[in-house]
Amino acid sequence: MTDYRGPRGTYDVYPGGREPHERPELWILVEEAARDLFARYNYSEIRTPIFEEARLFARTAGEGSDIVVQKEMFSFRDKGEREMALRPEGTPGAVRAYIEHNLYKLAQPIKLFYIGPMFRQERQQKGRYRQHTQIGAEALGTNDPLVDVEVISLLYAIHQAVGVKDEVVYLNNLGDMETRQAYVPELRAYLQRHSGELDPDSVARMQTNPLRTFDSKHEGTQAVLAEAPRITSYLSEDASEHLATVREGLEALGIPYEIDDGLVRGLDYYTMTVFEAKSSSLGAQDTVGAGGRYNGLISDLGGPDLGGIGFGTGVERMLLAAASRETGHSLDVFFVTLAPEARIPAVKLAGALREEGIASDLDYGGRGMRAQFKQADRTGASYAVILGEDELARGVVTVRDMSSGAESVVPVAEGAKDLILAVSG
Ligand code: ATP
Ligand code: MG
Repeated sequence: MTDYRGPRGTYDVYPGGREPHERPELWILVEEAARDLFARYNYSEIRTPIFEEARLFARTAGEGSDIVVQKEMFSFRDKGEREMALRPEGTPGAVRAYIEHNLYKLAQPIKLFYIGPMFRQERQQKGRYRQHTQIGAEALGTNDPLVDVEVISLLYAIHQAVGVKDEVVYLNNLGDMETRQAYVPELRAYLQRHSGELDPDSVARMQTNPLRTFDSKHEGTQAVLAEAPRITSYLSEDASEHLATVREGLEALGIPYEIDDGLVRGLDYYTMTVFEAKSSSLGAQDTVGAGGRYNGLISDLGGPDLGGIGFGTGVERMLLAAASRETGHSLDVFFVTLAPEARIPAVKLAGALREEGIASDLDYGGRGMRAQFKQADRTGASYAVILGEDELARGVVTVRDMSSGAESVVPVAEGAKDLILAVSG
Protein backbone atom coordinates (compact mmCIF):
# COMPACT_ATOMS: atom_id res chain seq x y z
CA MET A 1 0.00 0.00 0.00
CA THR A 2 1.23 3.46 -0.85
CA ASP A 3 1.29 6.29 1.63
CA TYR A 4 0.24 8.70 -1.06
CA ARG A 5 -3.26 9.62 -2.16
CA GLY A 6 -4.50 12.01 -4.82
CA PRO A 7 -5.41 15.45 -3.42
CA ARG A 8 -8.88 15.89 -1.94
CA GLY A 9 -11.51 16.61 -4.56
CA THR A 10 -9.54 15.12 -7.44
CA TYR A 11 -9.71 11.79 -9.25
CA ASP A 12 -7.64 9.73 -11.64
CA VAL A 13 -8.51 8.47 -15.09
CA TYR A 14 -7.08 4.97 -15.46
CA PRO A 15 -7.77 1.68 -17.24
CA GLY A 16 -10.75 0.05 -15.60
CA GLY A 17 -11.77 3.19 -13.69
CA ARG A 18 -15.04 2.73 -11.80
CA GLU A 19 -16.89 5.98 -12.35
CA PRO A 20 -17.62 6.98 -15.95
CA HIS A 21 -15.29 9.98 -15.72
CA GLU A 22 -12.48 7.72 -14.49
CA ARG A 23 -12.52 5.68 -17.70
CA PRO A 24 -10.03 6.76 -20.37
CA GLU A 25 -12.09 5.40 -23.29
CA LEU A 26 -15.02 7.63 -22.34
CA TRP A 27 -12.79 10.71 -22.29
CA ILE A 28 -11.67 9.95 -25.82
CA LEU A 29 -15.26 9.54 -26.87
CA VAL A 30 -16.30 12.90 -25.40
CA GLU A 31 -13.31 14.85 -26.67
CA GLU A 32 -13.58 13.42 -30.17
CA ALA A 33 -17.30 14.11 -30.35
CA ALA A 34 -16.72 17.70 -29.18
CA ARG A 35 -13.83 18.36 -31.57
CA ASP A 36 -15.84 16.96 -34.45
CA LEU A 37 -18.75 19.29 -33.64
CA PHE A 38 -16.49 22.32 -33.14
CA ALA A 39 -15.08 21.72 -36.62
CA ARG A 40 -18.56 21.42 -38.09
CA TYR A 41 -19.61 24.71 -36.46
CA ASN A 42 -16.34 26.38 -37.53
CA TYR A 43 -14.80 27.00 -34.09
CA SER A 44 -11.00 27.14 -33.67
CA GLU A 45 -9.16 25.94 -30.63
CA ILE A 46 -7.66 28.32 -28.08
CA ARG A 47 -5.24 27.16 -25.40
CA THR A 48 -4.45 29.53 -22.58
CA PRO A 49 -2.39 28.94 -19.43
CA ILE A 50 -4.06 27.16 -16.55
CA PHE A 51 -2.95 30.01 -14.29
CA GLU A 52 -3.34 33.75 -14.72
CA GLU A 53 -3.17 36.82 -12.54
CA ALA A 54 -5.76 36.30 -9.81
CA ARG A 55 -7.26 39.74 -10.39
CA LEU A 56 -8.35 38.70 -13.90
CA PHE A 57 -10.66 36.07 -12.43
CA ALA A 58 -11.79 38.18 -9.49
CA ARG A 59 -12.60 41.08 -11.81
CA THR A 60 -14.58 39.05 -14.30
CA ALA A 61 -16.48 36.86 -11.86
CA GLY A 62 -17.38 39.90 -9.76
CA GLU A 63 -17.66 40.78 -6.10
CA GLY A 64 -20.82 38.80 -5.51
CA SER A 65 -19.77 35.58 -7.21
CA ASP A 66 -19.14 32.23 -5.50
CA ILE A 67 -15.61 32.42 -6.82
CA VAL A 68 -14.97 35.53 -4.75
CA VAL A 69 -17.46 35.23 -1.90
CA GLN A 70 -16.98 31.51 -1.27
CA LYS A 71 -13.25 31.88 -1.88
CA GLU A 72 -13.26 29.14 -4.48
CA MET A 73 -10.12 30.38 -6.17
CA PHE A 74 -6.92 28.38 -5.85
CA SER A 75 -4.63 31.36 -5.55
CA PHE A 76 -0.96 31.59 -4.68
CA ARG A 77 1.91 34.05 -4.73
CA ASP A 78 4.68 33.42 -7.21
CA LYS A 79 8.32 34.14 -6.40
CA GLY A 80 7.88 37.70 -7.61
CA GLU A 81 5.09 38.17 -5.02
CA ARG A 82 2.47 38.34 -7.77
CA GLU A 83 -0.96 37.04 -6.81
CA MET A 84 -1.75 34.25 -9.27
CA ALA A 85 -4.60 31.74 -9.48
CA LEU A 86 -5.41 28.45 -11.16
CA ARG A 87 -8.22 29.21 -13.55
CA PRO A 88 -11.70 28.55 -12.14
CA GLU A 89 -13.30 28.95 -15.58
CA GLY A 90 -12.34 29.39 -19.22
CA THR A 91 -13.88 32.68 -20.30
CA PRO A 92 -11.51 35.20 -18.66
CA GLY A 93 -8.37 33.67 -20.21
CA ALA A 94 -9.99 33.42 -23.63
CA VAL A 95 -11.18 37.03 -23.55
CA ARG A 96 -7.81 38.22 -22.23
CA ALA A 97 -6.06 36.45 -25.15
CA TYR A 98 -8.59 37.82 -27.66
CA ILE A 99 -7.72 41.35 -26.56
CA GLU A 100 -3.98 40.75 -26.10
CA HIS A 101 -3.58 39.34 -29.61
CA ASN A 102 -5.85 41.91 -31.26
CA LEU A 103 -8.25 39.27 -32.53
CA TYR A 104 -10.98 41.94 -32.48
CA LYS A 105 -9.32 43.51 -35.52
CA LEU A 106 -10.05 40.45 -37.64
CA ALA A 107 -13.39 39.68 -39.26
CA GLN A 108 -15.88 39.05 -36.45
CA PRO A 109 -17.13 36.95 -34.87
CA ILE A 110 -14.12 35.03 -33.64
CA LYS A 111 -15.33 31.58 -32.67
CA LEU A 112 -13.18 29.73 -30.15
CA PHE A 113 -13.33 26.52 -28.17
CA TYR A 114 -11.25 25.01 -25.38
CA ILE A 115 -11.02 21.73 -23.50
CA GLY A 116 -9.15 21.72 -20.24
CA PRO A 117 -9.03 21.53 -16.46
CA MET A 118 -10.60 24.13 -14.16
CA PHE A 119 -9.90 24.51 -10.45
CA ARG A 120 -12.26 25.48 -7.66
CA GLN A 121 -11.65 25.00 -4.00
CA GLU A 122 -15.08 23.75 -3.03
CA ARG A 123 -16.61 21.09 -0.87
CA GLN A 124 -16.45 17.73 -2.58
CA GLN A 125 -19.80 16.14 -3.47
CA LYS A 126 -21.02 13.93 -6.24
CA GLY A 127 -20.38 15.74 -9.52
CA ARG A 128 -18.33 18.46 -7.80
CA TYR A 129 -14.54 18.35 -7.73
CA ARG A 130 -11.63 20.66 -7.04
CA GLN A 131 -10.23 19.92 -10.47
CA HIS A 132 -12.81 19.34 -13.18
CA THR A 133 -12.69 19.57 -16.94
CA GLN A 134 -14.73 21.90 -19.05
CA ILE A 135 -15.41 21.92 -22.73
CA GLY A 136 -16.26 25.47 -23.65
CA ALA A 137 -16.93 27.79 -26.55
CA GLU A 138 -16.77 31.57 -26.92
CA ALA A 139 -18.15 33.53 -29.87
CA LEU A 140 -16.64 36.99 -29.61
CA GLY A 141 -17.24 40.27 -31.38
CA THR A 142 -20.94 40.21 -32.17
CA ASN A 143 -24.31 40.87 -30.53
CA ASP A 144 -26.30 38.95 -33.12
CA PRO A 145 -28.93 36.86 -31.30
CA LEU A 146 -28.49 34.12 -33.90
CA VAL A 147 -25.01 33.57 -32.49
CA ASP A 148 -26.73 32.87 -29.16
CA VAL A 149 -28.79 30.27 -31.01
CA GLU A 150 -25.64 28.74 -32.49
CA VAL A 151 -23.84 28.57 -29.14
CA ILE A 152 -26.82 26.99 -27.38
CA SER A 153 -27.34 24.49 -30.21
CA LEU A 154 -23.65 23.59 -30.12
CA LEU A 155 -23.85 22.92 -26.38
CA TYR A 156 -26.92 20.78 -26.93
CA ALA A 157 -25.31 18.90 -29.83
CA ILE A 158 -22.25 18.01 -27.74
CA HIS A 159 -24.44 16.72 -24.93
CA GLN A 160 -26.52 14.68 -27.35
CA ALA A 161 -23.43 13.22 -29.03
CA VAL A 162 -22.20 12.07 -25.63
CA GLY A 163 -25.62 10.63 -24.77
CA VAL A 164 -26.89 13.01 -22.07
CA LYS A 165 -30.39 11.87 -21.15
CA ASP A 166 -33.56 13.92 -20.59
CA GLU A 167 -32.01 17.25 -21.39
CA VAL A 168 -33.79 20.59 -21.31
CA VAL A 169 -32.18 23.97 -21.91
CA TYR A 170 -33.45 26.70 -19.57
CA LEU A 171 -33.30 30.19 -20.98
CA ASN A 172 -33.60 33.69 -19.59
CA ASN A 173 -32.65 37.22 -20.50
CA LEU A 174 -31.08 39.43 -17.84
CA GLY A 175 -31.19 42.58 -19.94
CA ASP A 176 -28.22 44.88 -20.22
CA MET A 177 -26.18 46.21 -17.30
CA GLU A 178 -28.55 49.16 -16.87
CA THR A 179 -31.52 46.83 -16.63
CA ARG A 180 -29.77 44.82 -13.98
CA GLN A 181 -28.74 47.95 -12.15
CA ALA A 182 -32.36 49.09 -12.08
CA TYR A 183 -33.69 45.69 -11.11
CA VAL A 184 -31.23 44.54 -8.45
CA PRO A 185 -32.06 47.30 -5.89
CA GLU A 186 -35.78 46.55 -6.33
CA LEU A 187 -35.16 42.87 -5.70
CA ARG A 188 -32.92 43.61 -2.73
CA ALA A 189 -35.49 45.91 -1.17
CA TYR A 190 -38.19 43.29 -1.64
CA LEU A 191 -36.00 40.55 -0.09
CA GLN A 192 -35.14 42.82 2.83
CA ARG A 193 -38.82 43.19 3.62
CA HIS A 194 -39.06 39.37 3.79
CA SER A 195 -35.65 38.59 5.25
CA GLY A 196 -37.22 36.75 8.20
CA GLU A 197 -38.54 34.08 5.83
CA LEU A 198 -35.24 33.47 4.02
CA ASP A 199 -32.54 30.89 4.66
CA PRO A 200 -29.24 32.26 6.09
CA ASP A 201 -27.37 31.78 2.78
CA SER A 202 -29.92 33.88 0.97
CA VAL A 203 -29.79 36.56 3.64
CA ALA A 204 -26.06 36.84 2.99
CA ARG A 205 -26.54 36.83 -0.76
CA MET A 206 -29.23 39.49 -0.50
CA GLN A 207 -26.40 41.95 0.18
CA THR A 208 -23.69 40.66 -2.17
CA ASN A 209 -25.61 39.27 -5.12
CA PRO A 210 -29.38 39.16 -4.59
CA LEU A 211 -29.91 37.52 -8.00
CA ARG A 212 -28.31 34.39 -6.65
CA THR A 213 -31.08 33.92 -4.07
CA PHE A 214 -33.05 32.39 -6.97
CA ASP A 215 -30.66 29.44 -6.77
CA SER A 216 -31.75 28.61 -3.22
CA LYS A 217 -33.47 25.28 -2.70
CA HIS A 218 -35.01 26.50 0.60
CA GLU A 219 -38.80 26.29 0.53
CA GLY A 220 -39.42 29.51 2.45
CA THR A 221 -37.03 31.41 0.20
CA GLN A 222 -38.66 29.99 -2.91
CA ALA A 223 -42.08 31.03 -1.59
CA VAL A 224 -40.83 34.59 -1.10
CA LEU A 225 -39.25 34.59 -4.55
CA ALA A 226 -42.46 33.39 -6.18
CA GLU A 227 -43.90 36.85 -5.43
CA ALA A 228 -40.69 38.79 -6.08
CA PRO A 229 -40.33 41.31 -8.89
CA ARG A 230 -39.02 39.58 -12.01
CA ILE A 231 -36.33 40.88 -14.31
CA THR A 232 -38.58 40.09 -17.25
CA SER A 233 -40.74 43.10 -16.50
CA TYR A 234 -37.70 45.40 -16.49
CA LEU A 235 -36.40 44.40 -19.92
CA SER A 236 -35.83 47.03 -22.60
CA GLU A 237 -37.41 46.64 -26.01
CA ASP A 238 -34.00 45.65 -27.32
CA ALA A 239 -33.65 42.84 -24.79
CA SER A 240 -37.19 41.59 -25.42
CA GLU A 241 -36.57 41.47 -29.16
CA HIS A 242 -33.27 39.69 -28.60
CA LEU A 243 -35.01 37.05 -26.50
CA ALA A 244 -37.75 36.61 -29.12
CA THR A 245 -35.18 36.01 -31.87
CA VAL A 246 -33.27 33.50 -29.75
CA ARG A 247 -36.51 31.62 -29.10
CA GLU A 248 -37.39 31.63 -32.77
CA GLY A 249 -33.99 30.18 -33.66
CA LEU A 250 -34.15 27.46 -31.01
CA GLU A 251 -37.61 26.51 -32.22
CA ALA A 252 -36.41 26.35 -35.82
CA LEU A 253 -33.69 23.93 -34.73
CA GLY A 254 -36.05 21.88 -32.57
CA ILE A 255 -34.02 22.34 -29.38
CA PRO A 256 -36.06 21.53 -26.27
CA TYR A 257 -35.97 24.66 -24.13
CA GLU A 258 -38.01 26.38 -21.46
CA ILE A 259 -38.09 29.96 -20.32
CA ASP A 260 -37.07 30.27 -16.69
CA ASP A 261 -37.34 33.86 -15.52
CA GLY A 262 -35.75 32.87 -12.21
CA LEU A 263 -32.60 31.73 -13.98
CA VAL A 264 -29.61 33.78 -12.91
CA ARG A 265 -25.99 32.80 -13.18
CA GLY A 266 -23.22 32.93 -10.65
CA LEU A 267 -20.95 35.33 -12.50
CA ASP A 268 -21.51 39.06 -12.58
CA TYR A 269 -20.50 39.54 -16.20
CA TYR A 270 -23.61 38.06 -17.77
CA THR A 271 -25.93 40.31 -19.75
CA MET A 272 -28.93 39.48 -21.94
CA THR A 273 -29.06 35.75 -22.77
CA VAL A 274 -28.28 33.23 -20.02
CA PHE A 275 -28.91 29.50 -20.22
CA GLU A 276 -28.41 26.24 -18.38
CA ALA A 277 -28.67 22.75 -19.81
CA LYS A 278 -30.06 20.37 -17.23
CA SER A 279 -30.54 16.65 -17.16
CA SER A 280 -33.17 15.18 -14.86
CA SER A 281 -31.03 12.05 -14.63
CA LEU A 282 -28.59 13.92 -12.37
CA GLY A 283 -29.31 14.46 -8.70
CA ALA A 284 -28.63 17.70 -6.87
CA GLN A 285 -25.95 18.85 -9.33
CA ASP A 286 -28.31 18.72 -12.30
CA THR A 287 -26.73 21.42 -14.47
CA VAL A 288 -24.56 19.79 -17.09
CA GLY A 289 -23.45 22.94 -18.86
CA ALA A 290 -24.26 26.62 -18.83
CA GLY A 291 -23.35 29.97 -20.23
CA GLY A 292 -24.47 33.35 -21.35
CA ARG A 293 -23.78 36.59 -23.11
CA TYR A 294 -21.26 39.06 -21.68
CA ASN A 295 -21.57 42.32 -23.52
CA GLY A 296 -19.58 44.40 -21.04
CA LEU A 297 -16.71 42.03 -20.43
CA ILE A 298 -14.42 42.68 -23.39
CA SER A 299 -14.40 46.43 -22.78
CA ASP A 300 -14.10 45.88 -19.04
CA LEU A 301 -10.84 44.01 -19.63
CA GLY A 302 -9.47 46.83 -21.78
CA GLY A 303 -10.72 45.79 -25.22
CA PRO A 304 -13.21 47.46 -27.54
CA ASP A 305 -16.91 47.65 -26.76
CA LEU A 306 -17.91 44.37 -28.40
CA GLY A 307 -20.19 41.62 -27.20
CA GLY A 308 -19.56 37.95 -26.74
CA ILE A 309 -21.28 34.79 -25.63
CA GLY A 310 -20.06 31.41 -24.46
CA PHE A 311 -20.73 28.22 -22.57
CA GLY A 312 -18.81 25.83 -20.37
CA THR A 313 -19.86 22.27 -19.82
CA GLY A 314 -18.39 19.81 -17.34
CA VAL A 315 -17.12 16.55 -18.79
CA GLU A 316 -17.59 14.70 -15.49
CA ARG A 317 -21.24 15.70 -15.22
CA MET A 318 -21.79 15.02 -18.91
CA LEU A 319 -20.61 11.47 -18.42
CA LEU A 320 -22.69 11.07 -15.27
CA ALA A 321 -25.77 12.23 -17.16
CA ALA A 322 -25.10 10.00 -20.15
CA ALA A 323 -26.67 6.63 -20.57
CA SER A 324 -24.09 4.16 -19.34
CA ARG A 325 -22.55 2.59 -22.36
CA GLU A 326 -20.41 -0.42 -23.01
CA THR A 327 -17.47 0.80 -24.99
CA GLY A 328 -15.97 -2.21 -26.71
CA HIS A 329 -12.21 -2.28 -26.61
CA SER A 330 -10.75 -1.26 -29.92
CA LEU A 331 -7.82 -3.72 -30.14
CA ASP A 332 -7.84 -5.48 -33.51
CA VAL A 333 -5.12 -8.10 -33.19
CA PHE A 334 -3.36 -9.92 -30.37
CA PHE A 335 -0.30 -11.99 -31.31
CA VAL A 336 0.05 -15.33 -29.55
CA THR A 337 3.62 -16.58 -29.73
CA LEU A 338 4.23 -20.25 -28.99
CA ALA A 339 8.02 -20.36 -29.34
CA PRO A 340 10.77 -17.94 -28.32
CA GLU A 341 11.86 -17.65 -32.00
CA ALA A 342 8.37 -16.39 -32.85
CA ARG A 343 8.71 -13.25 -30.78
CA ILE A 344 10.77 -11.15 -33.19
CA PRO A 345 8.61 -12.11 -36.23
CA ALA A 346 5.55 -11.15 -34.12
CA VAL A 347 7.11 -7.79 -33.26
CA LYS A 348 7.74 -7.22 -36.97
CA LEU A 349 4.22 -8.18 -38.05
CA ALA A 350 2.68 -6.07 -35.27
CA GLY A 351 4.76 -3.13 -36.49
CA ALA A 352 3.49 -3.61 -40.05
CA LEU A 353 -0.14 -3.78 -38.87
CA ARG A 354 0.21 -0.70 -36.68
CA GLU A 355 1.56 1.23 -39.65
CA GLU A 356 -1.65 0.34 -41.46
CA GLY A 357 -3.71 1.68 -38.57
CA ILE A 358 -4.55 -1.77 -37.20
CA ALA A 359 -4.31 -1.78 -33.40
CA SER A 360 -2.09 -4.64 -32.36
CA ASP A 361 -0.50 -6.02 -29.22
CA LEU A 362 1.46 -9.07 -28.19
CA ASP A 363 2.51 -11.10 -25.18
CA TYR A 364 5.39 -9.59 -23.26
CA GLY A 365 5.47 -12.08 -20.44
CA GLY A 366 6.69 -15.16 -22.30
CA ARG A 367 3.54 -16.82 -20.98
CA GLY A 368 2.11 -20.20 -21.90
CA MET A 369 -0.45 -20.67 -24.67
CA ARG A 370 -3.53 -20.71 -22.42
CA ALA A 371 -2.48 -17.58 -20.59
CA GLN A 372 -1.87 -15.81 -23.89
CA PHE A 373 -5.30 -16.72 -25.25
CA LYS A 374 -6.82 -15.53 -22.00
CA GLN A 375 -4.97 -12.27 -22.46
CA ALA A 376 -6.17 -12.02 -26.07
CA ASP A 377 -9.70 -12.46 -24.76
CA ARG A 378 -9.27 -9.91 -21.99
CA THR A 379 -7.96 -7.27 -24.37
CA GLY A 380 -11.11 -7.66 -26.46
CA ALA A 381 -9.07 -8.30 -29.61
CA SER A 382 -11.05 -9.18 -32.72
CA TYR A 383 -8.37 -11.60 -33.90
CA ALA A 384 -5.66 -13.71 -32.33
CA VAL A 385 -2.73 -14.27 -34.67
CA ILE A 386 -0.87 -17.42 -33.69
CA LEU A 387 2.81 -18.01 -34.40
CA GLY A 388 4.20 -21.39 -33.31
CA GLU A 389 7.07 -23.56 -34.46
CA ASP A 390 4.91 -25.11 -37.16
CA GLU A 391 3.81 -21.71 -38.52
CA LEU A 392 7.40 -20.42 -38.49
CA ALA A 393 8.59 -23.44 -40.47
CA ARG A 394 5.83 -22.94 -43.08
CA GLY A 395 6.09 -19.15 -43.31
CA VAL A 396 2.47 -18.67 -42.22
CA VAL A 397 0.38 -17.50 -39.26
CA THR A 398 -2.89 -18.89 -37.98
CA VAL A 399 -5.57 -16.21 -37.70
CA ARG A 400 -8.36 -16.93 -35.26
CA ASP A 401 -11.56 -14.88 -35.35
CA MET A 402 -12.15 -14.39 -31.62
CA SER A 403 -15.92 -14.14 -31.83
CA SER A 404 -16.65 -17.12 -34.13
CA GLY A 405 -13.57 -19.19 -33.32
CA ALA A 406 -13.00 -19.78 -37.07
CA GLU A 407 -9.36 -20.16 -38.05
CA SER A 408 -7.52 -19.61 -41.31
CA VAL A 409 -3.90 -19.94 -42.38
CA VAL A 410 -2.32 -16.85 -43.92
CA PRO A 411 1.11 -16.68 -45.64
CA VAL A 412 3.52 -14.08 -44.23
CA ALA A 413 6.82 -15.17 -45.81
CA GLU A 414 6.59 -12.26 -48.31
CA GLY A 415 5.40 -9.68 -45.78
CA ALA A 416 2.24 -8.69 -43.95
CA LYS A 417 0.06 -7.93 -47.00
CA ASP A 418 -2.20 -10.98 -46.71
CA LEU A 419 -2.41 -10.68 -42.94
CA ILE A 420 -3.51 -7.06 -43.25
CA LEU A 421 -6.27 -8.17 -45.62
CA ALA A 422 -7.29 -11.04 -43.33
CA VAL A 423 -7.77 -8.84 -40.26
CA SER A 424 -9.28 -5.82 -42.02
CA GLY A 425 -12.60 -7.60 -42.67
P1 ATP B 1 -22.87 25.28 -9.62
O1 ATP B 1 -24.06 26.15 -9.47
O2 ATP B 1 -23.17 23.81 -9.73
O3 ATP B 1 -21.77 25.57 -8.63
P2 ATP B 1 -21.48 26.87 -11.50
O4 ATP B 1 -22.41 27.98 -11.79
O5 ATP B 1 -20.37 27.10 -10.52
O6 ATP B 1 -22.28 25.59 -11.07
P3 ATP B 1 -20.28 27.08 -14.08
O7 ATP B 1 -19.29 28.03 -13.56
O8 ATP B 1 -21.36 27.55 -14.96
O9 ATP B 1 -20.91 26.27 -12.85
O10 ATP B 1 -19.52 25.86 -14.78
C1 ATP B 1 -20.00 25.24 -15.95
C2 ATP B 1 -20.09 23.76 -15.75
O11 ATP B 1 -18.88 23.26 -15.22
C3 ATP B 1 -21.13 23.31 -14.75
O12 ATP B 1 -22.39 23.23 -15.33
C4 ATP B 1 -20.61 21.95 -14.36
O13 ATP B 1 -20.90 20.96 -15.35
C5 ATP B 1 -19.15 22.15 -14.38
N1 ATP B 1 -18.62 22.43 -13.02
C6 ATP B 1 -18.54 23.60 -12.36
N2 ATP B 1 -17.96 23.47 -11.16
C7 ATP B 1 -17.67 22.14 -11.07
C8 ATP B 1 -17.04 21.33 -10.06
N3 ATP B 1 -16.59 21.86 -8.94
N4 ATP B 1 -16.90 20.01 -10.32
C9 ATP B 1 -17.34 19.45 -11.46
N5 ATP B 1 -17.92 20.15 -12.44
C10 ATP B 1 -18.09 21.47 -12.25
MG1 MG C 1 -20.13 26.70 -8.48
